[in-house]
Amino acid sequence: MIQLNNIRKSYRTEYTALEVLKGIDLTIETGEFAAIMGSSGSGKSTLLNIMGILDDYTIGEYYLAGTLIKDLSQTQAAYYRNQMIGFVFQSFNLLSFKSAWENVALPLYYQKVDRKKRKDMAMAYLDKVGLKDWAEHLPNQLSGGQQQRVAIARSLITQPKVLLADEPTGALDSTTSYEVMKIFKEVNEQGITVILVTHENDIAAKCKRVIRLKDGLIEGNTVAASAS
Ligand code: ADP
Ligand code: MG
Repeated sequence: MIQLNNIRKSYRTEYTALEVLKGIDLTIETGEFAAIMGSSGSGKSTLLNIMGILDDYTIGEYYLAGTLIKDLSQTQAAYYRNQMIGFVFQSFNLLSFKSAWENVALPLYYQKVDRKKRKDMAMAYLDKVGLKDWAEHLPNQLSGGQQQRVAIARSLITQPKVLLADEPTGALDSTTSYEVMKIFKEVNEQGITVILVTHENDIAAKCKRVIRLKDGLIEGNTVAASAS
């Protein structure tokens, strides 16, 4: 599903170049459930943003489902992102003045789906994350865990092949984190490839594979005997 060959990424300012990814080789197969771990500044978000076509890279090749994702126009990038990728952020990124269902439905609005169908689909996806009864609530009327579940429903409504999540439980307490991880597990069991960034061992332990990043390089790759 995802193949990264010698991916390098540097940020240049007028006087310096900071190399953040220093040659990443990584293959993630369809249906995997993987965690990316590493200390702060090791390049986890940079790597995830490249996989999510939110950011470009300097050197190497990124193949997503066999398509080379490189030097795309904004339109092409948006096309592949909409076709393939769901993205979940640590801070949920919900629109505060929109209800739960309107937030979930938002990607369909951009796809010009009519309002009735948008609402029906949003309700179905809210149901999948256990929040059907909260559809009319605004984000600030929901707990952190509920807000993240709304964000997950929003990421799934376009039926992505890959779900990427950058520290999705980073703002949640451990009980709520486990509820959110349960949803990722269910999503994965439906055949969607799930890749999440975390620095929490107990969260990574719920994934089937752990990729460790250090100073812009992969330093470890372990496949769990059985994910809990
Ligand atoms: P992590 O998610 O593992 O904490 P990041 O991928 O966010 O790490 O960042 C890796 C390094 O790249 C950090 O040193 C960070 O300061 C730097 N960095 C990230 N984004 C930018 C940017 N837009 N411009 C310059 N440096 C950046
Ligand atoms: Mg980060």
